Formats: sequence, structure tokens, C-alpha cells
Amino acid sequence: MEKDKDKERLIDAACCARKAAYAPYSGYFVGAALLAKDGRIYTGCNVENASYGVSNCAERTAFFKAVSEGAREFTAIAICGGRQGEADYAAPCGVCRQVMMEFCDPKTFTVFVAKSCGDYRKYQLEELLPAGFGPGNLKK
Ligand SMILES: [Zn+2]
Repeated sequence: MEKDKDKERLIDAACCARKAAYAPYSGYFVGAALLAKDGRIYTGCNVENASYGVSNCAERTAFFKAVSEGAREFTAIAICGGRQGEADYAAPCGVCRQVMMEFCDPKTFTVFVAKSCGDYRKYQLEELLPAGFGPGNLKK
């Protein structure tokens, strides 16, 4: 996934998904868009809860939606977030990085942390989760 068109489509989808974020406690609204190898995009937003620990991040919402619909292979994710009305570089939390590690090749999976289509930071998962623990560790 290196085509500019795909990247813009993904960042646009993440910014759009952010509009559905349910974040009455943190006031930090996040959207994510996950690109599967077959070209499908799965979106997600953060969904908070009065019992704070139950809250779910946008990235995991997107992954769980995708996996629950049968997708298993992914090439990239875009994340757009920030306080209401603002754009921030909303890097994925540690828990979400671990979920990415479960389904993605850390050497090739791309993470776009975007304020907009023209203002983003690009990482490979292995930069965000060096020496990560994944399914390969449990293979005999
Ligand atoms: Zn997270």
C-alpha cells in the first residue's frame, strides 16, 4: 500500500469515522480506518464508558469489526484524533499496538498518524512496537 490515492482514501475514512466517536469523559475523539489486503476498509471510533476501563479505542474497534467479518490480513491503518475541534497526532496506545501485532507483519504494516491528508506521520509497526511479542513466538 504505497499509492497516494490509497493513503488519502484511508486518512479520509479515518477522519470521517472520528465523527462517530463517543468520548464524553476524555473529550478526545478518535477515528481509525484499517485497510485489508483485499482492498476493503474497516472503520472504527473510540467508544468510552462510565466504567472507564471498559472503553475501547478506535483502532481496536476497527480491528475487531474487520476480524469479526472474516478479514485476517491487513496492510495499513490511519488514525485521526484530538480534542474536540482540534487535530492531534494521535498515536496508537500500547494495547492497540499489541492488537496490530497479532494480525500484521510488523515489518510491512504501515501506521499513518494523521492530522489531515497532507499532515501525517508514517510508521512501520516495528518502529512502534520494537521486539514485539506475537503469534510467531508461540509457534513450535
Ligand atoms: Zn488504543
